[in-house]
Amino acid sequence: MTTIETKSVHTAQMEERSIRSKVMPIYQTSAFAFSSLEELEGYYEGNGTYLYSRTANPNTDALGQTVADLEGAPKGVSASSGTSAILAGILSVVKSGDHILAAEDVYGGTFLLLKQELALMGIQVHFADFSDISAVEQILIDFPEVQLIFSESITNPFLREEDIEVLSQLKKHYQVKVMIDNTFATPYTVKPYEFGADLVAHSATKYLGGHSDVTAGVLTGDAELVTLAEKRIVNMGLNLSPFEAWLTIRGIKTLALRMKAQTENAQSIAEYLTTKTKVWYPGKGAIVSFEVPESIEVPAFFSSLGWIKIVPTLAGVETTVSYPYGTSHRALSEEEKEKVGVTRRIVRLSAGIEGKDDILEQLAAAFA
Ligand SMILES: *Cc1c(COP(=O)(O)O)cnc(C)c1O
Repeated sequence: MTTIETKSVHTAQMEERSIRSKVMPIYQTSAFAFSSLEELEGYYEGNGTYLYSRTANPNTDALGQTVADLEGAPKGVSASSGTSAILAGILSVVKSGDHILAAEDVYGGTFLLLKQELALMGIQVHFADFSDISAVEQILIDFPEVQLIFSESITNPFLREEDIEVLSQLKKHYQVKVMIDNTFATPYTVKPYEFGADLVAHSATKYLGGHSDVTAGVLTGDAELVTLAEKRIVNMGLNLSPFEAWLTIRGIKTLALRMKAQTENAQSIAEYLTTKTKVWYPGKGAIVSFEVPESIEVPAFFSSLGWIKIVPTLAGVETTVSYPYGTSHRALSEEEKEKVGVTRRIVRLSAGIEGKDDILEQLAAAFA
């Protein structure tokens, strides 16, 4: 190696075996090198080496395994977003011609995925009010094509708690799988796999990442199904980037601390708001929804929140509010919005980790 052209391409690389980083490094590489054909063959025989980052990368693998461990599930896989984790999970169970039974109050983006995109793939979705389990069972009786039941552990924005155990019991009589989106609750609050769910999906964009600086998803659950979902992720290009996986893992290290602080704040906020208006808070988790009272104009209320920003997401360390009518549920028709109760007066608050007194003071100012 003598020319500057060659030397500047073949930069110095420290021998990895001699490096002991305290924190897992970012494998920011699109592919992995082999020193012999024998070593390359070893990859295909499953010796634990890596080939190409779309098919697998140490950082994305570490994230999948980390969340599986938190959920008490045998296997986990990362995806580029919560939406792609949900899609991959669904496609590990259903194919063209099959049906899905979903809760009518699922997250707006999931509603669009189920209603519009899956229809293009020949998959029909029935939406039902999951608080009425006999209505859920009736659909299973009427439509033996249903292969998958989909719901969320805590729904949005009215924070209905799903009875995962009851849904899982339906598996005994009907040949179906159960998939739960555990984004709002997180494994700090609920572990759906332990209640019988086959698949548990996350938008890691929310509490797992926790700092509103990453878009990521994770699917955990039954090893066989997650292996099938992993194939969908690889073949459909739904993979997460190594840096996003690394950031998400960094966020997860403080998940329990954040959830404890955010849940305590949410509890105090819910107690305060109850003295002012109608409040939805299930007694767990860190999201509180409430109605702007008739005596206050909705736009004025949102403009009076000071440092509590209006943000169409949740779960960061900052306390924020969102406007479900204009964002998460915007794509729903007026009729659909009315059916799930999302009016112009509904506010969804995501409790942060700030001092409780500061949050309550800022809310009081808005009510004043
Ligand atoms: C945000 C969210 C999603 C979608 O996640 P993305 O990371 O934005 O794709 C799915 N389900 C729930 C409950 C969410 O809050």
